[in-house]
Amino acid sequence: MKKQLAFVLAAAFLAAPAFALDPHEHEHGDVAVAQTFIKEIQADQAAYAGMHGTAFFQDLNKGQHPRATVVACSDSRVHTNMLDKTPEGDLFMVRNIGNQLSTTLGSVEYGVNHLNSSMLLVIGHSSCGAIKAASGDYSSLEPAIKRELDTIKIGKGVANIDGVKTNVNNQVASAVKEFADKVKEGHLLVVGAVYDFADDMKQGAGRLNIININGETDAVKVQQALSGKAAESHGHH
Ligand SMILES: [Zn+2]
Repeated sequence: MKKQLAFVLAAAFLAAPAFALDPHEHEHGDVAVAQTFIKEIQADQAAYAGMHGTAFFQDLNKGQHPRATVVACSDSRVHTNMLDKTPEGDLFMVRNIGNQLSTTLGSVEYGVNHLNSSMLLVIGHSSCGAIKAASGDYSSLEPAIKRELDTIKIGKGVANIDGVKTNVNNQVASAVKEFADKVKEGHLLVVGAVYDFADDMKQGAGRLNIININGETDAVKVQQALSGKAAESHGHH
C-alpha cells in the first residue's frame, strides 16, 4: 500500500502542470488515500477527546472569547500548533489562499467586531503557492481561483519571500483602515507576521517573524511596539 502510494505520488509529481499552485500538487486525489486517512483521523481524534476529558469540552461549550483573530494561508504546512500550544477557544481562525482580508472579510469582521479579539494576526509564509501564482501568469486557472488571486497586489516576477512580505503588509494596511477606530482606541493590535519554514529571512528555519505592527514596518519600532514602549510613551505616565 505504502509503496503503491509513493509511486502514485511520484507519478503525480512528474505530471504536475506548469501552473500548479504547489510543487507537490497531485494530478488527482485518490479515495484510497482518504479511506486510510479517515482511519488515522478517527484514531487521533479519539485520543484527543480522551486526553482532554469531559471538563475541557464543557468549558469550551460555555462560549468563546478568542484573544486573537488569525488570518492565515490555507497552506497545509501552516498550522496553529506552530505558534500556540492551546489554541482552543483562543484563536479565531480564518484561512484562505494568500492570507487575505478581502476574500473572507465577513469572517474577519465577526472575529474582531463580535468576538472582540484584541489582536488581528495576519500570517504569511515562505514558499507560498498563492504568492507564486499571483506574481506570475494565472490566467488559465479557474475563475474562482483567479478572483481570489486578483486581490493579491504584488509585482510580477518578484522573489517569493518579497511577495509574501508585501502581501502581509498590504493586508495589515487594509485591516488598519477597516478597523481604524479600534486601533486608535487601543482595542485592537494588528500584527503582520511571516512563518518562515524555508529560512528565507535568515532568522532561523520555522520562526514566526513579526514584520508589521499596526502598519509600522520599521524593525526597531516593531520591537518597541511589541514591548509596549511605544504605547507607554503615549500613555498617562
Ligand atoms: Zn500560502
